[in-house]
Amino acid sequence: MEPLKTLIIGSGPAGYTAAIYAARADLNPVLYTGLEPGGQLTTTTEVDNFPGYPKGVDGPTMMVELQQQAERFGTDVRIGFIKEVELAQEEGGLHKAIAEDGTELMAQTIIISTGATAKYLGLPSEQKLRGGGVSACAVCDGFFYKGQEVAIVGGGDTAAEEATYLANICSKVTMLVRKGEMRASKAMQHRVTNTPNIDLKYHTEVDEVIGDQVVEGLRMVNNQTGEKEEISITGLFIAIGHKPNTELFAGQLDMDDSGYLITHGKTTQTNLPGVFAAGDVQDKEYRQAVTAAGTGCMAALDAERYLQALN
Ligand code: NDP
Repeated sequence: MEPLKTLIIGSGPAGYTAAIYAARADLNPVLYTGLEPGGQLTTTTEVDNFPGYPKGVDGPTMMVELQQQAERFGTDVRIGFIKEVELAQEEGGLHKAIAEDGTELMAQTIIISTGATAKYLGLPSEQKLRGGGVSACAVCDGFFYKGQEVAIVGGGDTAAEEATYLANICSKVTMLVRKGEMRASKAMQHRVTNTPNIDLKYHTEVDEVIGDQVVEGLRMVNNQTGEKEEISITGLFIAIGHKPNTELFAGQLDMDDSGYLITHGKTTQTNLPGVFAAGDVQDKEYRQAVTAAGTGCMAALDAERYLQALN
């Protein structure tokens, strides 16, 4: 059993910022990165809206720098994931966590920053071709479709950003938006509509992904007229939002209907003493790197105050 003051689960902007603050407060944090070290920002291109980077920064670089900053103050960053937790119910109780390699940790405080994961449509033809041309990460996989025709599903900022990214690499991008308008910010919408090789289709959904081993085409359906249309594509990108990574805490922590952790008031406190949540795992409203970092800071301060009050 490894005794800890603070265990941080997850390595996005929330987790690393919590680590920076916790390490500087002498809480000797141990941070488990999870399956995707660096989190969602490692799959994004340019981050132009994080304060302090006047020229922008690419997501993976920013995450490496955040990790280095957390390590500079003594955070023990471990590549691996926590597979099980037994959270204490009472004030001052120790929270047990078991890592994938069997390491057992007993932590006075836990900061949960496990983030969220990309959603898929759930169609059988889509699931069959995941890894065979269906992807939820244009930045990871777009390169494979250089010079080819692809399609993307979604009307949010992610879909808009990925559509313009793909348009730079691919010959044509068909973008399927299920409503008559996009949810993306006006600036991102303008980028999409000003990109000549994006064919924007409103009121349009995927009827079937065509192909046996690999994607060969797409049958689309207009959800107002019922009219169907087939196009030839080699890649289909799904950009329809995310699901919070909270399965590990099911039955132990309070969650909302969508599975996001519930925190109390203006704090990061969950329903259990000494357990705090930061970043996208508890935020379906803002979901920005900077807001995740902000709540990571709050979680470390909340953990520090909790420990102080125990002594
Ligand atoms: P969003 O939840 O904002 O958008 C999801 C999109 O997918 C919506 O257009 C939604 O349609 C559509 N959708 C959902 N389910 C389906 C389905 N089953 N079939 C078809 N379409 C579907 O998610 P994002 O990932 O785009 O963005 C998440 C957050 O991250 C947002 O707050 C966004 O602003 C932010 N973000 C910011 C960026 C930046 O600032 N650089 C870059 C990327 C994201 P509908 O509108 O009809 O519900």
